[in-house]
Amino acid sequence: MPTSKEEIRRKYNLTEEEFDTIVALALRPTCEHCNKALPPDSLEARICSFECTFCATCVAEVVGNVCPNCGGGFAPRPIRPSRNWRNGNYLGAFPAPSTPKHKPVDAATHASFSAGIREFAPEKR
Ligand SMILES: [Zn+2]
Ligand SMILES: [Zn+2]
Repeated sequence: MPTSKEEIRRKYNLTEEEFDTIVALALRPTCEHCNKALPPDSLEARICSFECTFCATCVAEVVGNVCPNCGGGFAPRPIRPSRNWRNGNYLGAFPAPSTPKHKPVDAATHASFSAGIREFAPEKR
């Protein structure tokens, strides 16, 4: 049974990029807007379906549950287990990246972008 990311990648003959795209959430390390640290066990991390990552406060107070990159809504990011409970599916084999994506939202730009979107519930967008 493969126990590391590298073994799993080789077993299925995937490139590094394919593997990262297919297998797991990226667990980005910070809020895209305020740059607050969002470690893998954070209960404040929120993601859209493309995994744009914001803290709960910025989702509520800055972007109004409208992702500034795709227009979708946000959900709490699941916590990846830190222990190897089964088959190497854990944080040690699939670590969070350390490079932050810091792209603060411009209030005026987001207000006009989200104006026609926020009135729809995320499942209706
Ligand atoms: Zn934030
Ligand atoms: Zn998004």
